[in-house]
Amino acid sequence: MDLGLNDKIAVVTGGSSGIGLATAKLLLGEGARVAICGRDADRLAAAKAQLEAVNPGALLAETCDVLNAEAVNAFAAKVSAWAGGKLDLLVNNAGQGRMSTFANTTDAQWREELELKFFSQVLPIRAFKPLLEAAPSPAIVAVNSLLSLQPEPHMVCTSAARAGVQNLLKSLATEFAPRIRVNSILLGLVDSGQWQRRFEARTDKTQTREQWFSALARDKHIPLGRLGTPDEPARAIVFLGSPAASYITGASLEVSGGVSRSI
Ligand code: NDP
Repeated sequence: MDLGLNDKIAVVTGGSSGIGLATAKLLLGEGARVAICGRDADRLAAAKAQLEAVNPGALLAETCDVLNAEAVNAFAAKVSAWAGGKLDLLVNNAGQGRMSTFANTTDAQWREELELKFFSQVLPIRAFKPLLEAAPSPAIVAVNSLLSLQPEPHMVCTSAARAGVQNLLKSLATEFAPRIRVNSILLGLVDSGQWQRRFEARTDKTQTREQWFSALARDKHIPLGRLGTPDEPARAIVFLGSPAASYITGASLEVSGGVSRSI
């Protein structure tokens, strides 16, 4: 199946690690030109080196904090100049989860988490919308979590914020139709940068990586018996964002190894 991504322009926020990096790699492999951003310049440079090998000359990598409106607008201006004033696909992926219960989440942490989840969507969508409107069949794909449907008490503010984001995306799918499609993926657990950091911070340092991740998959009752790899959600993102998904909008696709309990 031809996804129709050859020569298309895509932006992947948080493209310097994990799922965003895997998505950028797949998009480049499909012949798209890809702009990525992240906050850490070293991580971005390492990602750039990897991605340039896939499709030389088809990558733009810029440092940008998606919570800083000025920086996001500057990133959009650079993409516009680089891509000739249009954008076919915006992948809003940047972010991370917060592990805390209601009892140990401060008001400041609540505000920080709500800001991260909402404004990592709002600011890039606002900044890139004029470029998306200039493309023939544009799309937005948001990386969200199954927590939006299936909250976990140990990730209370992330779960609540994720549910709100799903609600926002549904409104946008209607408001932006028929010009821009808006879809999301709902992740379970994916072995990426944030889980690597949690592994490194484990209390029992005698546990190997394999033992720690296997125990995690068991504890979380993942029917497929393991965490996902970054490539697995990336393939879903690339499909939903491609012209091949031309009749899909306002949808959410679970990529969770079967963790979802809803029918
Ligand atoms: P990684 O930590 O591997 O990647 C996160 C990426 O986002 C990095 O490139 C990071 O770069 C970037 N980023 C984070 N905050 C910002 C910011 N404010 N502005 C710009 N870039 C930012 O994690 P994942 O690949 O797992 O995460 C991708 C998305 O998937 C996140 O939104 C995460 O919350 C979500 N998710 C992941 C799950 C999982 O199990 N892995 C489960 C559910 C949701 P830098 O730090 O340099 O800015």
